[in-house]
Formats: sequence, structure tokens, C-alpha cells
Amino acid sequence: MGLPVVAIVGRPNVGKSALFNYILSKRLSIVHEQSGVTRDPVMSPCEHYGRKFLLVDTGGLGTHPKEKNVDLFDGMIREQVMQVVADASVLIWVVNCQEGITPQDEEVADFLHKTGKTVVVAANKADNDNVRKQAFGLFAPLGYLDIHAVCCTHTYGAGLLMDAVVEHLPKQEEDAEGEEEKEPKRLKIAVVGRPNVGKSSLVNRLLGNKRVMVSDIPGTTRDAIDVPVDLKYNDEILPATIIDTAGMRRKKQIDSVVEFFSLSRSETAIKRADIVLFMIDATDPCTTQECRIGRVIVDARKCCIMLANKWDIASKTIKEKEFIQHVRERMPFMDHAPLHIISALNGYRLKGIVGHLLHVREQMGVLIPTGVFNQFLQDTFARTPPPMSGTKRFKCYYGTMKQNNPPKFVLFCNKRSLCPAHYMQFLQNQIRDAFFPEAGLPIVMDLRERTKIDEADDTRKAAAGVKRVKEKEYQEEHRRVQRRRGYIKKG
Ligand code: GDP
Ligand code: GDP
Repeated sequence: MGLPVVAIVGRPNVGKSALFNYILSKRLSIVHEQSGVTRDPVMSPCEHYGRKFLLVDTGGLGTHPKEKNVDLFDGMIREQVMQVVADASVLIWVVNCQEGITPQDEEVADFLHKTGKTVVVAANKADNDNVRKQAFGLFAPLGYLDIHAVCCTHTYGAGLLMDAVVEHLPKQEEDAEGEEEKEPKRLKIAVVGRPNVGKSSLVNRLLGNKRVMVSDIPGTTRDAIDVPVDLKYNDEILPATIIDTAGMRRKKQIDSVVEFFSLSRSETAIKRADIVLFMIDATDPCTTQECRIGRVIVDARKCCIMLANKWDIASKTIKEKEFIQHVRERMPFMDHAPLHIISALNGYRLKGIVGHLLHVREQMGVLIPTGVFNQFLQDTFARTPPPMSGTKRFKCYYGTMKQNNPPKFVLFCNKRSLCPAHYMQFLQNQIRDAFFPEAGLPIVMDLRERTKIDEADDTRKAAAGVKRVKEKEYQEEHRRVQRRRGYIKKG
């Protein structure tokens, strides 16, 4: 089952996105080490004292950072928020201490009370002690008494707020955690790359001792070696098994039986791995052989992080930005894989790799709730519709996430052939940016045509949170509230 959802809700500009980033600040600092995130992530796996959950920023749903002024309770955005709320176990309702209760807050209160969900109030913009003390009295009239003063700009108060949030999460997560602790599931990491790129040097660095022989002669490490290790990043521990492989050589060059086995073992290692660390040589990147190894990883649909090694030498001749651009141009099929620049020899930026692996492991646990995913699809199709194909256009009726690692999505559509490859690529990129930023996970899409949707009708109905609240009903309700408050005249 997926993680329980904790959704951040509230009217615009109260600081929902700021709170989302603040709660995730530890993680995001790792993610942002590398530029290239084009869209703010809207959800992210999160952990507070061992309790895992999926944090969703409804402020980020359906809006690009530049379009922040969209009214939260307008049309599509409002529907999206309702879907997320339906999926959520706990809601964090953000209000603004500096403005107090506004009519829009009252509207949100009406809506939240009707949902019957557990609500923890984050009284944001409590920039000083005076305001913090007044927060409870200020917002208690809204009807929720679990109120916590927070200040995103001064990073104050998220600890207590999240203590309250996790208290309301479903219990089963804790039990699963207990079992996990008895026998930790080790993340299988394959270190691959052409001979002499520095794989053994990296593995030695990660292991902290010289377990694998390092030599200048290509192919010294012949067999893949599995080494269990507990990798450390600050105070976090990542139980892992490192699969160190022999350098992959081009098939043409294989001149001995031993080397043939080395190659197939490397391929096997990729297939066995949860994450592939694909090392390329920064002094001579993107050779034909490296591109082939890349293709093997892509074909195996494996999560991949690219490591450009020997930066100590390469940095003398090329700037980081130019280098990244060069690699991206030469290996467009590896676009989904984040690219780290390292030096296994002097340890440059090696610590970040473990941080990144922790981030990826979390991303692998994400199952996007169906409601959230469908609203995301609706938004994406509305914002950038697929091109016309003759008189027809590709339509997607409904989608769902089937599994993770790799994340697989099934989309029920009118006709598969109406979806051009570039639009499919666009959808994959949008999904990656919004839900799996910087994780190196390939996004797998399975398009099913309309006839099949009928067969799947029952599943569709059963899927959580897909029931749409009818526009008309909402408008009537909205008008009734406005009338009651005297904002519009009766009759
Ligand atoms: P959203 O529309 O609810 O997602 O709001 P944003 O996260 O975009 O924040 C809206 C504005 O409030 C931004 O200009 C933030 O810098 C500001 N803001 C967020 N948190 C705080 C805070 O704790 N104190 C103050 N003074 N400003 C804040
Ligand atoms: P493998 O064949 O991929 O396992 O590569 P090795 O780890 O055996 O490294 C091959 C050679 O490259 C050795 O001489 C290493 O010392 C050297 N090497 C590895 N990493 C770096 C690096 O970051 N910078 C430099 N200058 N040399 C490196």
C-alpha cells in the first residue's frame, strides 16, 4: 500500500508552499544540489520520527510558480484540492497570523468541517513571540483546536506541528517499521561503467576500506562482487548492497571467455540492482561504449544516477556547465538521470551521493494516490493539450499509478496512435518533475484504448478519490454560504 497522505491546504498566499519546503528542507537541500528542476514538486515522501507519509502541497497543484495568484477555490484548482483532501489522512491547514481570519478562511473552514477529516492548523507568519502567543486565541473560532504557531521564514515551529500530524496517521505504518528494523531491506546498488573509469575507487570510498583491488590495467576487477554496507549520511543510515562490476567492454573487443562473462555479469548486475550508479569518465565522456552501457540501463528500465568521475583532471579544461551540457547533448536518452560530478580519487562531492541515494530510496516508495494523479493529468492536458492529428485529438479519460521502481502509469485513452511520441515524452517529463524530481527513475507509460476502459470500469469506480464533486452542486452550495453571510442578496 502507498504511504498515508498529509495534505497542506489553505487559501492563496498564506505560505503553503513555504511550509511544504520548510518541512522538507532537509531533503530539498540535497535535491537542489543539482539545478534543472523546472517545476516545483507538489508532493514528496517525508518522515517524522520514523513515521512515513506523503506530503502534498495543494498550493503547488495545478499552478506554476509564476501563476501563484490563481484563486484556490476556482474551478479546476478547487476540484484538485478536493481530490487531495479526499485522499488525505491528515490535513495541515495553513492560516496567516498577520491577517487573522478572513472571509476566505471561513469558506475553507466550512469546506473542511464538511469533509470530517482530521485537521491540524498551522498558524503561519508568526514572526515574533507576541504573535505566537496570540495564535491560538486568534484561530480557535474556526473550530479546530490543534493550532500550532509556525514561521517559515525563520524556520520556527514545524517540529511541534509535525508531532501533532503524525499522531493522527494510521497505526499500521509503525508496525511495518518494526518489522523492517529486524531485517533491513538492503538497497541493491550496481556500480557500472567502462573499464578504468574509477568504479573500484568509488566502491572503496563508499566502503571506507580497500576491499576491491584498484589498478591502472583495464579490467582488473573481473567479477561482480556483492558487498553489504551501511552507508551514512549525516545521522541517517542507508542499508545497501553494493554490486561492483567489472568494466563493460564492447562486445567486439571481447577476446577471452573470462571477459565475456564479465560483460554478461555486468548486465546481470544492472538487472538485479534497485539503483544503478553509472560512472562516466569526465576526461573523455560519452564514448560509444559509454552510450551503449547507458542504453543497457535504459532498456532495463532502471533507476540511474550518472557520476562523472575524474573531475579533478577534467575541471582543468572545461567548466561544469559546459560539461553538463555536452553530456546531455550526447546522451539525450539519459535525460532522466541526474548527473553528479565527482572525483573518486580525492573524494570531491562523494558525500552527496549517499544523500542522493537516500532521496531516491524515498521516491521509490511513492505511490501517487489516484485522485491526485488524475487531477494532475487534467491540469496538464488543459495547460498543454496534445496536438490535433487530422480532425482528431488524443484524449485521456483516466489514469492510475500501478507500481513504483520504475513508476508505471496506466492511461485509459481514446486511441493510442493519436498520441505523438513527443507528447508522451512531455507527459513523462511533467510527471517526473512534479512527483519524482531528481530521482533518476524512468517513467513507464501504458496506454490502453477506450474499449478496455469498460472492462476496467469496476476498478475505476473503486479507485479512491476519483468521484468528482459536481460543479453545479458546489456552485449552489457556494452561493448558499455567500447568501448566508450577506455577500450576495437573497432571491
Ligand atoms: P501559498 O500561496 O499559500 O503557497 O503561499 P507561499 O508559500 O507562496 O507564500 C506566500 C508569501 O508569504 C511569500 O511571499 C512568502 O515569502 C511569505 N511567507 C511564507 N511564510 C512566511 C512566514 O513565516 N513569515 C512571513 N513574514 N512571510 C512568509
Ligand atoms: P575501474 O576499472 O572502473 O574499477 O577503475 P579503477 O577504480 O581501477 O580506477 C582506474 C584508475 O583511475 C586508477 O589508477 C585510479 O587511481 C584512477 N582514478 C579513479 N578515480 C579517479 C579520479 O577521480 N581522478 C583521477 N585523476 N584518477 C582516478
